[in-house]
Amino acid sequence: MSSKLDHYKIDPIAQTMTKAQASNNCEEGNKSMKELENKTAIITGGARGIGQAIALTLAKEEIKCVISDLDSSMAEVTAKEIASLTNTETVAVGCNVADSKSVSEMLKKVLDKFGSIDILINNAGITADSLLVRMKEEDWQKVIDVNLTGAFNCLQAVGKLMMKQRSGKIVNISSIIGLRGNAGQTNYAASKAGLIGLTKSAARELASRGVNVNAVCPGFIKTEMTDRLPEAVKSDLLAQIPLGRFGEPEDVARVVLFLVSPWAAYITGQIIVVDGGMVM
Ligand code: NAP
Repeated sequence: MSSKLDHYKIDPIAQTMTKAQASNNCEEGNKSMKELENKTAIITGGARGIGQAIALTLAKEEIKCVISDLDSSMAEVTAKEIASLTNTETVAVGCNVADSKSVSEMLKKVLDKFGSIDILINNAGITADSLLVRMKEEDWQKVIDVNLTGAFNCLQAVGKLMMKQRSGKIVNISSIIGLRGNAGQTNYAASKAGLIGLTKSAARELASRGVNVNAVCPGFIKTEMTDRLPEAVKSDLLAQIPLGRFGEPEDVARVVLFLVSPWAAYITGQIIVVDGGMVM
């Protein structure tokens, strides 16, 4: 009969462990995950797509989630669904991340309700694609305003609180487009590359106060954002993915859970790529 510890046999270092040691390690890991219970997380753009999957994944670990989204009615629907699926308190708060006043109002509501904020996921994002020479200034600006300034607005406001409480986890959802660029997406690529610089600088500033700041760069993930792409573009993209499939929102959500967990306590300022091997 196979034992729960059989997988340790694959690793020659782990092979030297006694069963008792290995079991203690597992228990320690479970205890660490338990530390997430009753923490509070804000997920911007959490009503659908990757944000929704992140919220559900965190709520399953009993993290109280705030679904913050431009579309407050959709956020309400998502929050109710997650609460009923997980039995974890989940609330919706409408917010336009591009507007610092709207962010302050959202934070006030969250603090009134929960008293503290332990986790911030800067996930809200948009695209407005066109070739560089044809790009309208307003399309350049609105993508920068939501994807980059929006993350800055939330990070600055929540960062202040986390510095005072001397703990916190921030994850910014960037993109592989911010690493490698993409024809037709100069605005999006610039916003996502900017988010990487923002992540590394904030990580350096906040580290001494116990706040970890990391970024995740998803590749091609199946959501409404990517559904809009023409079929020819999708098949061309699929051919570039070594793992041979598009990502699911949950592929990103599980990495985010790891980054906000105590298992990632010694990780800050890092850019984690989740793309099936597209960029390597
Ligand atoms: P999505 O399905 O379009 O969801 C984006 C969410 O952000 C929506 O709920 C949207 O609300 C919200 N939002 C837009 N503008 C906002 C604002 N100003 N304030 C607050 N919320 C706002 O996108 P997704 O695919 O899940 O993407 C989530 C994040 O991952 C984005 O940052 C995206 O750039 C990044 N990403 C996605 C992929 C991918 O392949 N899908 C790849 C790399 C990176 P409304 O419904 O009201 O518009």
